Amino acid sequence: MSKNRFDGKIAVITGAASGIGAATARLFASEGALLVLADINAEAGQAMVDELGADKTTFVTCDVSKMDDIGKLIQTAVNKHGRIDILFNNAGIGSFGTSVEMTAQTWEQVIAVDLHSVFYACHHAIPHMSPGASIVNTASISGLGGDYRFAAYNAAKGGVVNYTRALAMDHARDGIRVNALCPGLIDTPITAATKEIPGLAEDWTSRIPMGRAAQPEEMASVVAFLASDDASYVTGTIMVADGGTTACTGQPE
Ligand code: NAD
Repeated sequence: MSKNRFDGKIAVITGAASGIGAATARLFASEGALLVLADINAEAGQAMVDELGADKTTFVTCDVSKMDDIGKLIQTAVNKHGRIDILFNNAGIGSFGTSVEMTAQTWEQVIAVDLHSVFYACHHAIPHMSPGASIVNTASISGLGGDYRFAAYNAAKGGVVNYTRALAMDHARDGIRVNALCPGLIDTPITAATKEIPGLAEDWTSRIPMGRAAQPEEMASVVAFLASDDASYVTGTIMVADGGTTACTGQPE
């Protein structure tokens, strides 16, 4: 059954040129949304416009770790459409390394891209949102627990999880809902590095109760639920979509 949950809705999506962001852009577009897409990868972003149609899609080259870039992104959306109905804060990067191995520069970059960006976007966008609007932040199951050699990512995504709750409180009475998505292992370019370490991808996958990584479209459908009126009484929720990973105690099968 086809749905049209986003007819005429204005949706801003960061990290929209690849993976979960691109899959969500496609789903939102298929349900009638007008999109303002942002990514640091201008070529792949332009390809999304070519695919989805310039009449319904705008692309802004944007480094989400820069407050000014996000300000320009939100201003572009407001100049074009006059408001923002949906903000999907999704751009992110990973990093390998313990706190001893990692440089301060890497730490700061991961926190800036994965966490500061969410504040920058909310700071600029919320004044242009009205009752019924919705924000979805991509966190991770790495924001709910610790991973080996993922210190900066764990810290950033843990911040996104609790910042989401704070945003939900501050804007509940404004009628703006705010929720987080916590994906498990998703088959996107961000996880490509795991394939370079022999055996790691197989080991990781074998620990997922459902026995497989997800496709980005399986995250897009969760984001669409959270962003749509189907979730009209859902705010401050940390929605896990991880094939059962965090439900498992870790006891061997
Ligand atoms: P992806 O690499 O396919 O997409 C990430 C996108 O973000 C890319 O298009 C990239 O160009 C963009 N980006 C990176 N740095 C940016 C910056 N500074 N400014 C603007 N754009 C930037 O990966 P994905 O899996 O689709 O990741 C989307 C989100 O999902 C991220 O926040 C990631 O941390 C999160 N996540 C992914 C997984 C997974 O297993 N793939 C698991 C949990 C959470």
